[in-house]
Amino acid sequence: MVDSVEKGQQIQWTDSISVPDFPIIPYIEGDGIGSDITPAMLKVVNHAVSKAYGDKRAIEWKEIFAGQKAFDLTGEWLPQDTIDAIEKYHVAIKGPLTTPVGGGIRSLNVALRQKLGLFICQRPVQYFEGVPSPMMHPEKVDITVFRENSEDIYIGIEFKAGDTETKRLLETLKNQYAVDNIARPENTGVGVKLISEHASKRLVRQALQYAISQEKEHVALVHKGNIMKYTEGAFCHWGYDVAVEEFAAKKVEWGYEIENPNNGQKILVTDVIADACFQQVLLKPENFDVIATMNLNGDYLSDALAAQIGGIGIAPGANLSDRDALFEATHGTAPLYAGKNLANPSSLILSAEMMLRHMGWSEAADKLIQGMRLSLKAKEVTQDFARHMEGVEGLSTSDFAQAICRHMR
Ligand code: NAP
Repeated sequence: MVDSVEKGQQIQWTDSISVPDFPIIPYIEGDGIGSDITPAMLKVVNHAVSKAYGDKRAIEWKEIFAGQKAFDLTGEWLPQDTIDAIEKYHVAIKGPLTTPVGGGIRSLNVALRQKLGLFICQRPVQYFEGVPSPMMHPEKVDITVFRENSEDIYIGIEFKAGDTETKRLLETLKNQYAVDNIARPENTGVGVKLISEHASKRLVRQALQYAISQEKEHVALVHKGNIMKYTEGAFCHWGYDVAVEEFAAKKVEWGYEIENPNNGQKILVTDVIADACFQQVLLKPENFDVIATMNLNGDYLSDALAAQIGGIGIAPGANLSDRDALFEATHGTAPLYAGKNLANPSSLILSAEMMLRHMGWSEAADKLIQGMRLSLKAKEVTQDFARHMEGVEGLSTSDFAQAICRHMR
């Protein structure tokens, strides 16, 4: 499967990414609405690249398989060929995947992140004029979340209430470690939260590097360390350690300050308790630029932020390691709309915009954003937005993609 593409060249990675003019990029169509939104994304990206570079550059798309389509073709939900292809080509994009019921896989998305070592989930949340939002000033939201992908409570170390080993574990905690508030060990479940120095530091390092490269002014380390001192609290301390040891941060009243070597501007690094953060991103979203946080907080926070700018239908995402990048729609397969040409492809299209910037093809990314911005402003939107807008008739998925292309100048 991996070597079936004859034209096009591989993206190379040595110390940094090196993108040929005709790169091969694997894509996973996705389940449910994947067959609606993925063709729309491919059309928009091809048009943006052609508008920006004429015939000097083009993407050689290569379909790879995961989810239902993979199962139907190969009998496997996540074939090894798919993992190999993403590792080989370094950049890939995917639609949403159904979580197989009773297939022995908790989630294909989690499996992909774990198998590929994609330790960061990056979610930029930005408002587009014209999109219906529950906020009075959604335009004040321009926040990028860096969520740690590889550990926390999501690692899956869980013990079922009532099992013999669970009761034994709880008795050990009670007797040997003097944990005296386990009232009913016979009927209590246990989950283990793992937060390591290594994973915390590499996440915060990437968030700080992003703040420098994107000339942001504030990085907030979001945690609940006042309660969970040795996990969330430790994350915060290790985050500050990275800022001091690797970015020469200096102590200031509200946290630490880094000097951006690119422009001499100061970047403030602070920490915010998670519950306070949920309040502040609603009341004062303009105070936030970059958020670095652990898996569970990041999961909640990125969807809550997405709601502020119109919902997960328009929020893009990327899963990243040091070398590989898998861009993805942040919503699920929306089975209600599958195959009906009605779903909103914006999340996947904006994920493709992140992908183009990751490749250094910023001219094409700018064209794509321009098309999207003007289309939304002109109220040329899909039904999920149109139903909240007076007198607006929703476009089909394919007509919306067509409108985005038409608005690229
Ligand atoms: P979902 O697929 O995100 O859909 C929930 C609702 O969100 C839809 O019914 C629809 O709302 C709206 N929606 C989501 N995406 C939309 C789009 N592109 N355009 C228009 N409306 C959209 O969540 P779910 O129903 O909980 O999950 C369904 C399946 O997806 C499950 O198998 C789940 O495991 C999987 N999933 C996959 C991913 C992923 O691949 N990254 C993420 C989450 C869930 P209305 O009905 O109000 O119109």
